[in-house]
Amino acid sequence: MASSDRLVRSLEVDLAAARTVLRDVFGYSSFRAPQDQIVESVLAGRDCFVLMPTGAGKSLCFQIPAIVRPGTGIVVSPLISLMKDQVDALKQNGVRAAFFNSSLSHPEANRVLGDLQSGQLDLLYVSPERLMIQEFQRHLAGISVACVAIDEAHCVSQWGHDFRPEYVQLGNLRAKFPSIPFIALTATADAQTRKDILMRLQLQDPRIFVSGFDRPNIRYTVVQKSRPIHQLESFVRSKSNEPGIVYCLSRRRVEEVAEHLVESGFRAAAYHAGLGAGDRARIQESFQKDDIQIVVATVAFGMGIDKPNVRYVVHYDLPWNVESYYQETGRAGRDGLPSEALMLYSPGDIRIVRKLIEAGENAEQNQIELKKLSSIIAFAEADTCRRRKLLAYFGEGSTEDCGNCDVCLDSPTSYDATEDARTVLLTIYHLKQRFGIKHVVDVVRGTPTDRVGQFGHDRMELFGAGKNTSVEQWMALLRQLLQRGYLLQDEANFNALKLTPLTRPLLRDGATLILPTPRVRVRTERKKKKGGGPADYDDSLFERLRSLRRKIAEEEGVPPYVVFGDQTLKGMAASKPRTREALLEVSGVGSRKLERYGERFLSVIKEP
Ligand code: ADP
Ligand code: ZN
Repeated sequence: MASSDRLVRSLEVDLAAARTVLRDVFGYSSFRAPQDQIVESVLAGRDCFVLMPTGAGKSLCFQIPAIVRPGTGIVVSPLISLMKDQVDALKQNGVRAAFFNSSLSHPEANRVLGDLQSGQLDLLYVSPERLMIQEFQRHLAGISVACVAIDEAHCVSQWGHDFRPEYVQLGNLRAKFPSIPFIALTATADAQTRKDILMRLQLQDPRIFVSGFDRPNIRYTVVQKSRPIHQLESFVRSKSNEPGIVYCLSRRRVEEVAEHLVESGFRAAAYHAGLGAGDRARIQESFQKDDIQIVVATVAFGMGIDKPNVRYVVHYDLPWNVESYYQETGRAGRDGLPSEALMLYSPGDIRIVRKLIEAGENAEQNQIELKKLSSIIAFAEADTCRRRKLLAYFGEGSTEDCGNCDVCLDSPTSYDATEDARTVLLTIYHLKQRFGIKHVVDVVRGTPTDRVGQFGHDRMELFGAGKNTSVEQWMALLRQLLQRGYLLQDEANFNALKLTPLTRPLLRDGATLILPTPRVRVRTERKKKKGGGPADYDDSLFERLRSLRRKIAEEEGVPPYVVFGDQTLKGMAASKPRTREALLEVSGVGSRKLERYGERFLSVIKEP
């Protein structure tokens, strides 16, 4: 009895210490659910399995127990490129952290081991390869270990999408440290992968924490692709200096788009597997430091980056499946601030993706991929809440619309397209079904191009019949007619448009045609914000705080978000603290950072 009382009391003391660390070291006023329960479990010595979406705040779940419990917290992390940033960020907050991996020189590695042995470290990040070396385990045996965290735990499972053979051996570790809590964390694991992780890591009676997949701060939007480079340009322009990622299907497309953005004055770079490792690392780092604003990439980009302030992800082309769409869009808004996921959708892309899939060698796998492709098409063509559709795909049904996707914000309308459809179908008929989309639109709108002159099409009765309707609208209508089978594109003949028998009722029998109003325009205005973050902050002060942050980051050779996150700068730009005490109230300002940077930020805030 007495001893269990003592245990309860000491857990209470630990919990109080955890809250103090949260406030003083990290500068946050409260835990987010279920961080408190996880921290409590680890402090009590329980194993935990944590599945929470990106940006939910998994790191604190092991960092705080590692700081509070006696000894060093060991963190297994698969990506060497991320360890340094995470350790830098901890050090900024005054936490004694280090990493141990193959990137260290011999003397550096020895120094880290020395610090470990003399109890100088709260946290040690280590690669799975290093951790499994006998010699390293001998070092561990001699010290006090606070907890063992296995980050990106899905890597241990062959069912997961990123299996790492080095992870499998981690299962042996549990038995070697019987009295130390293990915590496994991941953002992506379906039911089967979850079971597999628990089994392989041999967690003991773990508490399981599974949060939903929803990322409420990401706004999902799908628009019909129409002159995509202009759509993209107007979208990124509306984002001023904010960082973003644009995904394209092919290397060539990546290069074209990046080039266009650079010519238009953006700090953009192309990223794909054809670049050397050095170039790729350089681009990642510049992006991390906000020197490059936009990375245009094939899917290869994103694995090794952990940038919290990516404000948007654009799919310039159709992603292959819902899983990759979710993962890629998930790189936006890790810091919880409002972010956007924009997809430019064209049925024409389906053909391209299908061909890429069918080029795969394993016929069975191809069938699976084709089925997955149809799910992302269904998502793109849906006229119901995007988030509900997305979450339903992951088995998380919801009966409420989200209010933060294009469909919810701007519910689909339909219009009577009969007259316009007749005009354009008759034009195609009179052009003897021998011309492609562009020429048809030129004739309908009465645009006097060379080609029009050459064929004498300006003498046609219907020339200019639709001059009051924009190019985009005609293109969108033609795409709808193609999609619905009124027209075919003759690929063997320069994509000439051909009428199908479906047009007969429309052209001869007086049938009407009601179509959904196409979404072509990329909404660029700032709508009411959702998903956290101060809604009313001073934009120009935010920009000034941002440039101070950049300056400090350069001086200290760390990414800007390590100094303060966007969330914190926006908090300052909203509450405009004028004293040290008031600054400490802003979320993300801990005592260490107050000491280091407080005066400089206060003086920018106080500038007239
Ligand atoms: P994950 O690993 O789940 O993707 P992180 O641990 O990187 O998420 O946390 C995402 C962001 O949320 C970080 O900027 C982190 O500092 C912030 N954060 C985490 N917990 C809290 C909290 N309790 N209060 C405020 N911000 C938090
Ligand atoms: Zn919605």
